[in-house]
Amino acid sequence: MLDLASLTELLDQPRKIVITTHHKPDGDAMGSSLGLYNYLIQQGHHAKVITPTDYPDFLNWMPGNGEVIIYTENTELSATLIADAEIIFCTDFNSLSRINEMGVLVGKSAAYKVMIDHHLEPEDFDDYRHWDINACAAAQLVYTFIVDQLKHKELINKDVATCLYTGIMTDSASFRLPNTTSTVHRIVAELIDAGANNARIHDLVYNSASENRLRFLGHCLANCLEILPEYNTAIISVNKTDIARFNVNTGDTEGIVNYALSIATVRLAAFIVQRNDKVKLSLRSKGEFPANEICKKYFNGGGHRNAAGGQSDEPLEATINKFKSILPEYKTLLIQ
Ligand code: 5GP
Ligand code: MN
Repeated sequence: MLDLASLTELLDQPRKIVITTHHKPDGDAMGSSLGLYNYLIQQGHHAKVITPTDYPDFLNWMPGNGEVIIYTENTELSATLIADAEIIFCTDFNSLSRINEMGVLVGKSAAYKVMIDHHLEPEDFDDYRHWDINACAAAQLVYTFIVDQLKHKELINKDVATCLYTGIMTDSASFRLPNTTSTVHRIVAELIDAGANNARIHDLVYNSASENRLRFLGHCLANCLEILPEYNTAIISVNKTDIARFNVNTGDTEGIVNYALSIATVRLAAFIVQRNDKVKLSLRSKGEFPANEICKKYFNGGGHRNAAGGQSDEPLEATINKFKSILPEYKTLLIQ
């Protein structure tokens, strides 16, 4: 275990550092990782962000993006960097299974592991932990790590601020989830003062879709939406043929589940998509409904109360039926 004083001392010298985040990185995964990266390089550290898989184009513009290494595309270099690292920062995840095969390499590495995360039930693989499930984003925790713990507010420059703003904006669904507290708004205000261009960041993330993506969304809403009024639940399910027909790429499915949740009566929304041999589920809920419990108990996943995900090895139809069969267990929570 490392305490803050030892970690601070360790970071006083330039170190070989790897920063990694969960597979299929989202805005918070990339924003928290690159925010930390842009902070560390100012102090002469040899830092590299390694993502377990690729990530959507609407996230490929953040400062430092050009230096990101994608594990699946650069396995050997990634393995060497992980093995040689002195410190490995793990942002926006807390279980090594979330970084796929990289988990074994990170587990084996002699590096100190620093977890910066806001998910439930952290696994015990870290040496230092900055973890708070009440944080709306890992990027919020990177901010408090730099400012409150390492006392380096002056190093929150425009690049750091831009990345952290992106992480907070995306994970808080544009500042509207219940965990977007006044403290979060104060941090966001500091990030804007430090140079984050809020309107530009919003456009880059949310107004940069392809025509295909919009037509795919139209298809999902017109043809793939099923409402189960007796459970206040909505399901959008998409098969392999649709994915191929609309040429759906990484990230094109992001956020579609929220349209199902936007119906007044819907308390639980599911987006179920078949890609290759895997079926992936994204759940969103309103209020107290524990979407993560369903993912953890039945779909080998997890997440937050109102936003969670999981997967199934069964075919699409069987997965949809399994999801429906679970709803009676939650009926009282769903219809209140
Ligand atoms: P999404 O629906 O956007 O894929 O995921 C929503 C949230 O659920 C993510 O922020 C992540 O915390 C969590 N999540 C998604 N998939 C998984 C999974 O397979 N395992 C775990 N533990 N969490 C997941
Ligand atoms: Mn997050």
